[in-house]
Amino acid sequence: MIEKTEAICIKISSFSKTSHIVSWLTDTHGLIQTVIKGAQRPKSWFIGQYDLFQTCEILFYTRSYNNLHIMKECTPLTQRDGFRTNWRSAALASYFCDLIYRSSFGNTHMPEYYKLLSTSLDALISHGPDTSIMSWYELNILLTNGLAPTLNNCTSCGITITDKPNYTFSIQQGGIICSNCSNKTNSNIISITPDILALLRNWQRTISPAAARNIKPTRKQTLAFRSLIGIFITYHLDINPVSRRAAIEISTV
Ligand SMILES: [Zn+2]
Repeated sequence: MIEKTEAICIKISSFSKTSHIVSWLTDTHGLIQTVIKGAQRPKSWFIGQYDLFQTCEILFYTRSYNNLHIMKECTPLTQRDGFRTNWRSAALASYFCDLIYRSSFGNTHMPEYYKLLSTSLDALISHGPDTSIMSWYELNILLTNGLAPTLNNCTSCGITITDKPNYTFSIQQGGIICSNCSNKTNSNIISITPDILALLRNWQRTISPAAARNIKPTRKQTLAFRSLIGIFITYHLDINPVSRRAAIEISTV
């Protein structure tokens, strides 16, 4: 059976001396892998037809027994050449793709993922390696998985959280907990300041990565946010991508 779809190239590996395995986030089939036979031969028809971070139209023969399909045709639609010259943005793009790759459990098709990655890569091309784009992206990955931090009500008893000097946040319970519940819980709790809670709320309700750039955290706030969300992602998505640390280090050089 032959399928055709739009797809973003998120990972390229060697399969043999001449072939590639390419992982794609597709518009219609979720995360898939294709074998591109002869891709590394000098006269291959596929040379120049795909690269990391590009959106392509792909035509492939489906193979159901191992989810490793056979590429028939591939045509670039959005090449995003800016990543070739802006290595800081490329480091963030690599992390964005890696996070999708690692959090696509069982290759379940989640249509929101495709739009999320596409718009975020475009935002990196347009605006460079912006911290707010990365923060927005991470919160939306969690949101798409139904794991967004609870920020307005206590995750234990549900009461509305009111303003006070500091808040308690439970990684295990997935958000803010009230002082009454924090005295009873056995889970590890973290104290967060009102400005960090406000940042989380702002990014969580912002609808696009471009709009997220209007939120300008201080360096101290950025560090606090990264630490909190890094722990949150590791715990709830059960992954600890090395690419996150590399992306942060490279994009802030
Ligand atoms: Zn409570």
